[in-house]
Amino acid sequence: MKKYDYVIVGGGLFAGTFAYFAKKAGKTCLIVEKRETLGGNLYCEDIEGIHVHKYGAHIFHTSNRKVWDFVNSLVEFNRYTNSPVANYKGEIYNMPFNMNTFSKMWGIATPKEAEEIINRQKAAVKGEPKNLEEQAISLVGEDIYKKLIKGYTEKQWGRDCKDLPAFIIKRLPVRYTYDNNYFNDLYQGIPIGGYNVLINALFEGCDVELGVDYNEEKEKYNALGEKVLYTGMLDAYYGYRFGKLEYRSLKFETEVLDEKNHQGVAVVNYTDRETPYTRIIEHKHFEFGTQEKTVITKEYPTDWEEGMEPYYPVNDDKNQELYQKYRNLADEEHLLLGGRLAEYKYYDMDKVIESAFQLVEKELQ
Ligand SMILES: Cc1cc2nc3c(=O)[nH]c(=O)nc-3n(C[C@H](O)[C@H](O)[C@H](O)COP(=O)(O)OP(=O)(O)OC[C@H]3O[C@@H](n4cnc5c(N)ncnc54)[C@H](O)[C@@H]3O)c2cc1C
Repeated sequence: MKKYDYVIVGGGLFAGTFAYFAKKAGKTCLIVEKRETLGGNLYCEDIEGIHVHKYGAHIFHTSNRKVWDFVNSLVEFNRYTNSPVANYKGEIYNMPFNMNTFSKMWGIATPKEAEEIINRQKAAVKGEPKNLEEQAISLVGEDIYKKLIKGYTEKQWGRDCKDLPAFIIKRLPVRYTYDNNYFNDLYQGIPIGGYNVLINALFEGCDVELGVDYNEEKEKYNALGEKVLYTGMLDAYYGYRFGKLEYRSLKFETEVLDEKNHQGVAVVNYTDRETPYTRIIEHKHFEFGTQEKTVITKEYPTDWEEGMEPYYPVNDDKNQELYQKYRNLADEEHLLLGGRLAEYKYYDMDKVIESAFQLVEKELQ
């Protein structure tokens, strides 16, 4: 008999969801987390009484009632609705692209007028789009592309849009209504009291070891658990034996400002090429904060190198093939795995929970 039923590698949302149901099923869990905090990318740091989203702005949104009921059973959510704005050289536009955006851009008022302009501009691209620039123009026309997509995308990927493949942008939602709600999902919000309330509820009753890289002490931790659930990077698990998977990363610059309200909204995208950051987040607006000071974070996309946080997988053919090699090994060994790193997938929070529900069903029921 080993000490724990499950040793769970990583303390993120996937791990937490699984651990929650494992405990309910009478199982014991040890969480081994590399960082000094639980919660993975959801973790918030308290600065000036404001919950600062330390690993990037997180807005919970879903159309899955089961997922929504689950998170609400652990923490109440507020009515935050994501309505970011774009700043293009000082001109402010509403996002996502909707009648407010078109009205500001062209001085028009009706959906018919907007549609006519967009369709005329889209027609500039003939045949199959050869790169991201052509793809974007064929979806939304030249003006929106130039002011709201080009610079932002080039900063995100560190490359010119003409040198990026068309498949990166499959669709660009265009709304011919005056609706600034970024998400189409039925439910959205931010946990009241911040994400740490949700995290604490998920991991309550687990033993936790922080600041430990499991891959450096595998034998020790394997000996402690009947089973291991791994939510870290799969190439790291196998000592990078076939090579390294690529990621995009982000650098965050956080400042406390001696003012109450800096930008009037939680998220402002800077869509010109010259401003070096892509977004400024003003965290208090996620929870309608009334503190005397405010905290803002500038977000700079960057190439990923070892030691940095791997935020976005580069899901091109080369990386996907490499991932599949690791995955075949893991499947042969029946390794229990899940989450955005182990599956090398961009996953929103609700999808991570859905995926953990599937593992819960397979493992615990
Ligand atoms: C910038 C950014 C913004 C986002 N915004 C949103 C949003 O607005 N809405 C939304 O729904 N989703 C958003 N997401 C996605 C969201 O972050 C993920 O869905 C979620 O965090 C995934 O949870 P996870 O458990 O799979 O991974 P993680 O949160 O990454 O958890 C994995 C954990 O494992 C730990 N770990 C890794 N390797 C080891 C090891 N060897 N030993 C020990 N521990 C290890 C890591 O430190 C980490 O804590 C965003 C993601 C990013 C990057």
